[in-house]
Amino acid sequence: MTQDPTAAGPSGTPFERWLADDPEVAKLIGDEARRQSTTLQLIASENFTSPAVLAAVGSVLTNKYAEGYPGRRYYGGNQVIDEVEDLARMRACELFGAEHANVQPHAGAAANLAVYQALLDPGDTILAMRLDQGGHLTHGSPASITSRFWRFVAYGVTPASADPDAPGEVIDFDEVAALAKTERPKMIVAGATAYPRVIDPQPFREIADSVGALLFFDLAHPAGLVAGGAHPSPVGVADVVSFTTHKTLRGPRGGAILCRADLAKAIDSAVFPGLQGGPLEHVIAGKAVAFREAMAPSFRAYAAAVVRNARALAAALAAEGFRLVSGGTDNHLLLVDLLGFDAELTGKVAQETLDRAGITLNRNTIPDDPRSAFQTSGLRLGTAAETTAGMGEAEMATIGTLIGRALRGRDDEAALGAVRAEVADLCAAFPPYPTLGTGVDGRPAGRV
Ligand SMILES: *Cc1c(COP(=O)(O)O)cnc(C)c1O
Repeated sequence: MTQDPTAAGPSGTPFERWLADDPEVAKLIGDEARRQSTTLQLIASENFTSPAVLAAVGSVLTNKYAEGYPGRRYYGGNQVIDEVEDLARMRACELFGAEHANVQPHAGAAANLAVYQALLDPGDTILAMRLDQGGHLTHGSPASITSRFWRFVAYGVTPASADPDAPGEVIDFDEVAALAKTERPKMIVAGATAYPRVIDPQPFREIADSVGALLFFDLAHPAGLVAGGAHPSPVGVADVVSFTTHKTLRGPRGGAILCRADLAKAIDSAVFPGLQGGPLEHVIAGKAVAFREAMAPSFRAYAAAVVRNARALAAALAAEGFRLVSGGTDNHLLLVDLLGFDAELTGKVAQETLDRAGITLNRNTIPDDPRSAFQTSGLRLGTAAETTAGMGEAEMATIGTLIGRALRGRDDEAALGAVRAEVADLCAAFPPYPTLGTGVDGRPAGRV
């Protein structure tokens, strides 16, 4: 059955009903719910939270001001809020085996700023991953405030190689060690935003120890894979770990920090009052829900399925003639090098073409990209969201061929229309919110 993605459902979403007095916003939320359920969501940093997380984030907890921390607030009436935040902190510590958790950062970027502010002085040297090879803006981009306060030095990945057994494009630990020796950073940052391999915290620890540097692990992307036991945990290895709660961890949009007990005070003071005012306690409740969900055995199965699906998608894309950066993936994301597929095709045009075919992903630089960060020669894809919706390896194989067909037929509207119709049928079989009624009827495949 082919869906009309623009058609409103018979009763609309619950959001449309709750917002009956504001039809403009109601319509937009309904439109976005339909977009999410009728097109493929392959953005590596996105996921579908559970209805329980949505309920917490949409709750009356948003009304409460709670500057400070449980037991030490600057406003009255925080008895219940203290229990909410304590529950979230306890669950975060239990989930990751951490000594201390701060669940107040509004986002991953805010968490990272707090870590730098807590542990460094302005002007200190930080060794982090190069942005165009996978690092994040908050790892010292000239466009980020981080580069105005601290002095960043960057390591990268090894060159690509034609040897299928050692394809390269993995973190160059020789370079990390050499730069640590010559630059004497006060902090080394491990972690990336576009890196398809496991990041082992142990070699970073050894290098940090050899020069007396702090080790900060930015776990923003693979937090859910670590929680689900699919990747090694940096908690207890790194001095401090930040993560986002909305990527593979599948919670509400936000950040969090884990650290040793002796760093707790510095971290907490850097978040509040250092950087933020009142915490978003409705989001913190959503984080608590997500931490509990991530402790369930089903989340271990989910994390394993995310990685399995990424490998299946990598194989399907390779069969379509795409080269994968580093030769494949160990996590939830893939970086596709478009140069070998079609030297004329930029990441920007590929992203826009796939958008027209109902396939949502983002363009990305590849290591040593000849094009700018605005054009790029690569695409970044992730499997976290559609795995939540219940898709498996067979669907990943289909998606790989659909991407190949869409990009080969990018000047052919009929070909793109045909792909879009197949995408709609695929999505209809795997609705992300089968119980919420997005206005699109389909067979609930069951969330993982
Ligand atoms: C996503 C990400 C962040 C920032 O998270 P936001 O919530 O978008 O601020 C920081 N570091 C890394 C490595 C990321 O991937």
